[in-house]
This record gives sequence, C-alpha cells and structure tokens, in this order.
Amino acid sequence: MPTLLIKNAHVLATMDGAEISHGGLHARDGWIENVGPTMDIPATADEVVDLTGHVVLPGLVNTHHHLYQTLTRAFPGAQNSELFDWLRTLYPVWARMTPDHVRVSTRLGLVELALSGATTVFDHHYLWPHGSSIDDQFEGADGLNIRFHASRGSMSRGESDGGLPPDSVVEDEDSILEDTKRAIESFHEPARGSMRQVAVAPCSPFSVTDNLMRESAALARETETRLHTHLAETKDEEEFCLGMHGLRPVAYTESLGWAGEDVWYAHAVHVGDDEVARMGAAGTGVAHCPTSNMRLGAGAAPITRYLDRGVPVGLGVDGSASNDSSNMLAEVRQALLLNRVNNGPGFTARQALEMATTGGAGILGRHDIGKLAPGHAADFIAIDLNRVEFAGSLHDPVAATVLCAPARVDHSWVGGRRLVEHGEVVGVDVPALIESHNRLAFDLGD
Ligand SMILES: [Zn+2]
Repeated sequence: MPTLLIKNAHVLATMDGAEISHGGLHARDGWIENVGPTMDIPATADEVVDLTGHVVLPGLVNTHHHLYQTLTRAFPGAQNSELFDWLRTLYPVWARMTPDHVRVSTRLGLVELALSGATTVFDHHYLWPHGSSIDDQFEGADGLNIRFHASRGSMSRGESDGGLPPDSVVEDEDSILEDTKRAIESFHEPARGSMRQVAVAPCSPFSVTDNLMRESAALARETETRLHTHLAETKDEEEFCLGMHGLRPVAYTESLGWAGEDVWYAHAVHVGDDEVARMGAAGTGVAHCPTSNMRLGAGAAPITRYLDRGVPVGLGVDGSASNDSSNMLAEVRQALLLNRVNNGPGFTARQALEMATTGGAGILGRHDIGKLAPGHAADFIAIDLNRVEFAGSLHDPVAATVLCAPARVDHSWVGGRRLVEHGEVVGVDVPALIESHNRLAFDLGD
C-alpha cells in the first residue's frame, strides 16, 4: 500500500479546527493517517513532497454546475437577461448538442474546476438531445483523477403543459425514470472513497411535472441516491409556483416528498424564515451560487440565516452560462463578498472556505472528504504563496486564499494521487481540448 508524505507546508488548514505551521500529512493507500507539524508525523514515505512556501487546504467541493454550459459562455443574446429570458434564449441553442458536445464540455469544465481547487464536482445535466446521455459525461471525465458526481437530470413539462422549455427539449416521465435507474446501476458507486456517483435531479419547478418530482424522490430513496433540483432562484419562479400550484417553491417540493438530509437545492434565494426553519429541521441542504445569482440579478440567498438554523450549505459555481467561469476559488471569494453585502463584515474568509469544503462534502453525503483528518481521503490542494497576488498577505495565508485575487492551485491530490501537478492537470492535452471545445461551441452558436 503506497504511502505519501507532505511536509513543511507554510500552513496547513485542516478545516477540522486546526491551522498548522510547518504542517504535514501522511497518507497510506489514499487515506490520511497523520496530520500535524512535520516534525511530529512519520518522516518517510514512498512519495515525499516538500511544500515549503505553500498553503495547503482540503480539496474544494463544487455542489452545483452545468458543465455543458461552458459551450455558451458570454453568449451574446444572453448576457443581460434575467433567468426566464436567459433560458428562453439558450434552450434552442443547447438543443443542438450532440454526444461530442456533452463529452468535451464535461472534460473542459472539470479541468477548469481542478485548476481552481476543486477535487470533487457535482454536475446537474438535464437535457439530452441527439442521443446524448450520462455515459458521455463519464466518458468526458475518464482518466481525470477527480471525484465526479453526475446527475441524470430531466425536464418533463414543456410549453404545451404550461412549462418554460420548448416541448422539443423535454422527455416523457417513463423514459426519464427508466434511464435514471440505468444510470444509477451503471455508474453509482456508494462506497467510501467513491470516484463516481449519480444523483436524481429533475431540473426546476417550471420545467418538470409534479409526478416526475414525486417519482424521482421515490426512486432516489429506493436506490439510496441523493435528490437535487433548482429551487426558489427568482421571483418569477415564486410567481410560477403560486400560480400553478398555489404554493411557494419550498412548500411545493416538500409536498412532493422533497425534504430531508438526502435533498439539496441549488440557489434557494427567495425563502421566508418559516421555510428556512423547516429546511433546517429536515436537514435539507443548499448549494449557494453567488456569482450566478449576481450575474442574473436573481438576489442574494440568506446564508447566515441558513447557517443559524442548521441548514447544510455548500458552494456551487453554477453553469458556465450564468457564471462565465468555473472557478472554485473565485466562487469562495464571491461568497464572502456577497454575504458581506447582506450582513456586513462579520462573515469571514474561513466561513466561506467551510462552505467550499466541509459544507459541500456534507450536502453531497460525503463523510470521507472535506477535511484533512485521519480516516479522511487524502484530497488536498497546495498553493504557492510566492506569487505577486499574495505579496504582503503572509500575515494570514489562509485568509489570503479568499481575500486576495483568486489563484490557480499549483498542486492537488485526490485519494493520494495527483490531479494537478505544477499548475497542469495530469494527463490532459489542454491546447487540444480548448481547440476541440471552441469548435463545438461555434457549431452550437451558428
Ligand atoms: Zn443551475
């Protein structure tokens, strides 16, 4: 069983209550056995890496994305719209995707996330034109040493049923449920240390039918997978739910079985105190997506109220058409800044990092990642502090990773194996990937 020793980090933040100067960790077969000052942990290993001058943090966990949207970043007709118009502009563009678009955009987005500190990524993919499938996403992730939680997302309420998407991009419920079952059987690995998981993820209240929501919850519980959807993102959605169902978004999904520790919502911006309390009591989680919420002018989620009431909160970059980057460290900074707009300067850099590590791990149901502690997976990132952006910040390098301009990571490991080495994702020909991705993006836009 191979061993790995990391030593001499300027500071190693465990996100488990300690920030260790001259920190190190020792791992065996991908699992952390010792964390502490370098002088206090075993001094030899099969692989030894000296991280003098680096800050070391647990790998970041992205809890909401649409990787395919990297193909429609800065899309001209969708730069200045709110959610519903933005979607109406983009649905027909996304409807042109083929399996190649899904595969290559998945890979490109994962690479971008890895370079910005992510070691675990959840993706919410909900339209599957031209025979594309979740298989294309796992093929896109193939060979990347990143933990990939995909979803067999779905839309079943088209315009003719009062939904927002055109009928051409929605599917019938039976095929959705059957293919979701197939995806779980083919790809979902529930065990500790899992590299691939599948979530059940109907898209949003204005694009799915009640029955699909109910049946999706039943399927997730039967297969012990997790449930995810967009919820309470905009005022338009709230009006849609009140008009269509006579219920606010949280009450609507709760009425269909969507509450509990196995459920997490993306956004959850427009919620009342009673809804926050019910979510906290049930353990229903939130993927906070600050950049997307600002980009679409959706509002600001009540994150401190969520944390006060025990709602699990993780961080998500959201799709790259409403956050034209897939940059986790940038998202941590945005979370800090947006929550200060709402709450003043009391929201700290470390609270933002908690959302991106232990918070994200929790809402994905991962008790094996998110902190650097014995028994946890050796998933961690290292950032060289000797760069112009951090000059003058060494009073507090941990806070500097959030407060200063977002850096790329220099190194990262997942399960004790490299993901990023000297600023490059291992095993990826990035120039060829960009060329292929740009070509596919132009296909969609023409
Ligand atoms: Zn989203």
